[in-house]
Amino acid sequence: MSKVIIIGAGGVGGVVTHKCAQLPEVFSEIILASRNEDKCKAIAAQLDRPIRTAQVDADNVPELTALLEKEKPDLVINVALPYQDLHIMDACLAAGVDYLDTANYEPLDTAKFEYSWQWAYREKFENAGLMALLGSGFDPGATNVFTAYLAKHYFDEIHELDIIDVNGGDHGYPFATNFNPEINIREVTAECRHWENGEFVTTPAMSKKASFTCPEEVGNYNIYRMYHEELESLVVNFPTLKRAQFWMSFGESYLKHLEVLGNVGMTGIDPIDYNGQQIVPIQFLKALLPDPSTLGPRTKGKTCIGCVVKGVKDGKQKIVYLYQIKDHQDCYAEVQSQAISYTTGVPAMIGAKMMLEGKWKKPGVWNIEQFDPDPFMEDMNKYGLPWEVIELDDFNLDG
Ligand code: NDP
Repeated sequence: MSKVIIIGAGGVGGVVTHKCAQLPEVFSEIILASRNEDKCKAIAAQLDRPIRTAQVDADNVPELTALLEKEKPDLVINVALPYQDLHIMDACLAAGVDYLDTANYEPLDTAKFEYSWQWAYREKFENAGLMALLGSGFDPGATNVFTAYLAKHYFDEIHELDIIDVNGGDHGYPFATNFNPEINIREVTAECRHWENGEFVTTPAMSKKASFTCPEEVGNYNIYRMYHEELESLVVNFPTLKRAQFWMSFGESYLKHLEVLGNVGMTGIDPIDYNGQQIVPIQFLKALLPDPSTLGPRTKGKTCIGCVVKGVKDGKQKIVYLYQIKDHQDCYAEVQSQAISYTTGVPAMIGAKMMLEGKWKKPGVWNIEQFDPDPFMEDMNKYGLPWEVIELDDFNLDG
């Protein structure tokens, strides 16, 4: 029996709230808090059981600390934006509450996300006897756990990792992002970094493309190599990795729009002066684009996200692919959301469940692959994200 406060009432926050509400035996009390309480109330109204809502600005540490001290939850599930991570961690430390998130900290004024800022909180959490679980979404999140699961059960040593994120969904808009547009565009336009022989190698954004055929007739997609935050922790926690890459599928229309928007300066993060008013172009663009939480009813097709690992078992080379396929419309039928928010929100609920049930419980700041993957993988099958493992004879994205 535990009490959680979920912060952030966006696409992911809606799914986490639905999924936690489905498990009253674990999440006996739920409070959904966000900057705009009306959004929390709209999500609460979709549920079969009552939850409470609250208004909070998570960037205001004293305000958030006061809420946590008043409510005394067992855990804060942070599904606001990466900019809030450190503020929410500070409030958790001040109020003595465990912490979980799905995306690593990114300063508002620099499009650079990395774990260093949050890893610097290790000692503080350890000394306070509190736990912070970082990156419990899908990627990062499930993909880290997939890697740990393959390393544990299929290999003696893992050497190469390709994380492949395909979204075969179509929402019918010429350009829209499946999660927060500002975060999505900052991520996609960043330079690519991948791990090669003991160091990160930098290449221009979207400069490496490959073709990938998903299993189970999801289809064939163009995928592009890009930097993604789980690479940073995975190469530390699996030091035998010689190469680690992340790939994501993008449609022609998305890439064409992104190129034009970039060329005209609409994806910029530095404020410009417009008629005496300071405007950040990417924030203005976000205001024009469809809200990702409204894409649910119109998105059709499937996501297919997984990890291909090459390594050695009993002296023999092996290639294993672990993947999860999810249908956008099935997600909508269950929790009124598309699959991108769903595939993020379910692992956030499962990570929280692991902590509250004491299966994963250790003071300090941890990346998700540092815990036993087995109970998490079991729950993925139980709570809407069933997965498959297949051995491959050959695998090559080098073209
Ligand atoms: P949304 O923009 O849809 O939702 C974010 C929510 O946070 C909004 O309700 C917003 O409020 C709220 N919020 C923003 N700032 C504050 C603040 N200062 N105080 C309180 N609430 C605040 O984003 P998503 O739901 O798509 O994404 C949520 C998180 O999940 C992001 O960090 C994203 O990076 C991460 N993510 C992780 C993935 C993974 O696989 N690991 C995949 C997809 C997303 P308001 O409504 O007022 O704007």
